[in-house]
Amino acid sequence: MSQSSPLPLTHKAQVEVRQTRLLIDGKFCDSLSGKTFATIDPATEEVIAQVAEGDAEDIDLAVQAARKAFDSGPWHRMDARERGRRMLKWADLIEAHMEELAKLEVLDNGKPINEALGYDIPSAAATLRYFAGWADKIHGKTIPISGPFFTYTRREPVGVCGLIIPWNFPLAMAAWKLGPALATGCTAILKPAEQTPLTALRAGELALEAGIPPGVLNIVPGFGPTAGAALVQHPLVEKIAFTGEYKTAQTIKQATVNSMKRLSFELGGKSPNIIFNDANLEEAITGSFGAIFLNQGQNCCAGSRAFVQNNIYDEFVEQFAEKAAKRKLGDPFDPATEHGAQIDKAQFDKIMHYIALGKEQGAECVTGGERAFERGYFIQPTIFKEVNENMAIATDEIFGPVASVLRFKNINEVIEKANNTPFGLAAAVWTQDIDKANAVAAGVKAGTVWVNCYNIVDPAAPFGGFKLSGLGRELGEQALDAYTETKTVTVLR
Ligand code: NAD
Repeated sequence: MSQSSPLPLTHKAQVEVRQTRLLIDGKFCDSLSGKTFATIDPATEEVIAQVAEGDAEDIDLAVQAARKAFDSGPWHRMDARERGRRMLKWADLIEAHMEELAKLEVLDNGKPINEALGYDIPSAAATLRYFAGWADKIHGKTIPISGPFFTYTRREPVGVCGLIIPWNFPLAMAAWKLGPALATGCTAILKPAEQTPLTALRAGELALEAGIPPGVLNIVPGFGPTAGAALVQHPLVEKIAFTGEYKTAQTIKQATVNSMKRLSFELGGKSPNIIFNDANLEEAITGSFGAIFLNQGQNCCAGSRAFVQNNIYDEFVEQFAEKAAKRKLGDPFDPATEHGAQIDKAQFDKIMHYIALGKEQGAECVTGGERAFERGYFIQPTIFKEVNENMAIATDEIFGPVASVLRFKNINEVIEKANNTPFGLAAAVWTQDIDKANAVAAGVKAGTVWVNCYNIVDPAAPFGGFKLSGLGRELGEQALDAYTETKTVTVLR
């Protein structure tokens, strides 16, 4: 397919959209207002389906259902092994519907089918399975204290959780929150991003089939300022777990300042990807490529600032650009496609604005920089060289396929430059010198550091941000802390 031709509309018939209504108290229903909103296929700009639009009244119903399920329902009272078993069944059902869910994700999000099949859906199942395994292993401690007392702790579910997620990895992000929430015995209201509600709703049907009781998982698609804000402000919600932009997190903090709602945040990044001159260049280029172009750059830990040591800078840029120019853009349903569409018009415009700013501010665009195709939100993989640290493309999270390649001389300088950002989500270092790798890992302020690899995220490994990139950790054992309260019990002997 030529990159200037319009995309053929071939993929519409490949998957049936089965569920577009709200899930409240175990039943799918229309919104109380009867309102719906359109979800759009980013590859064709056409409407996929009308989805029930939840707002404050629907959120209230969903919260009441979750409250009732928590206060008097069986979920956190049942044998923890049984809770785990039902979560495992849910994970199995997601896997059994892998192709359908992957196609729904592609339709709603515009990502290539191979990424949806290779990461999004299997990782959602793996995350649920990992946390299902924790359900019967969440326990307190006995603690020796002074005096004639016996002290122990209990770990109890925090209660009703509002889970607000973005559109970049829709089902995977839902699983990151639902895994620990459900394993610990909490009940939940999930608010998917308005751009991508479809996989969550279909997975909601599968959750009911797996035996997750009514009211434990409620799903209310809708917009941030209406449904999202209502969930955040609802007095019966004990915890908000949010993934999205730092500015939205600030709004949520302000809206909850007079409550003691538990908050956890996974936010943005401007992750440094550091390539030393002793790195295996081929591997570093392949890794750096995935670091920025996976999911069309719409990745919270995107390696958007590549720092390359001076004496390999030109060679790196040349090979990096050659690889980008060959990347296959096209119909996201075509298994040969490597690069799909950006999520929507707003994101498309924002990325094109940053590309224009990069050029204006004097960086050199060595490849890409243009829209691809006449229809759909496709942008060519774009690489800028001779980027300096103060340019907007080096400071701001673009959330698109735009790599900034910067120069550095030595390790101290690059650690300082890498940390010259308000964000601290992830970082990577490419070198064959383990001491250098460890020094960078220790010196960089980031929640995750990859050495000679990138984007390795596993349900068992904690993930989260330093600085403005977040609060708390998801995944791993640490995620359970965000969904439990510790109760200390002291008994006079
Ligand atoms: P966003 O903040 O605009 O929206 C995220 C979610 O918040 C959506 O569901 C939205 O409807 C909701 N929302 C918006 N306003 C709200 C409000 N006032 N109250 C309550 N909810 C509200 O973010 P986005 O553009 O969808 O996602 C992109 C951002 O997410 C990027 O910054 C990216 O780095 C970040 N992200 C972080 C991680 C991570 O794990 N750290 C993962 C994925 C994405």
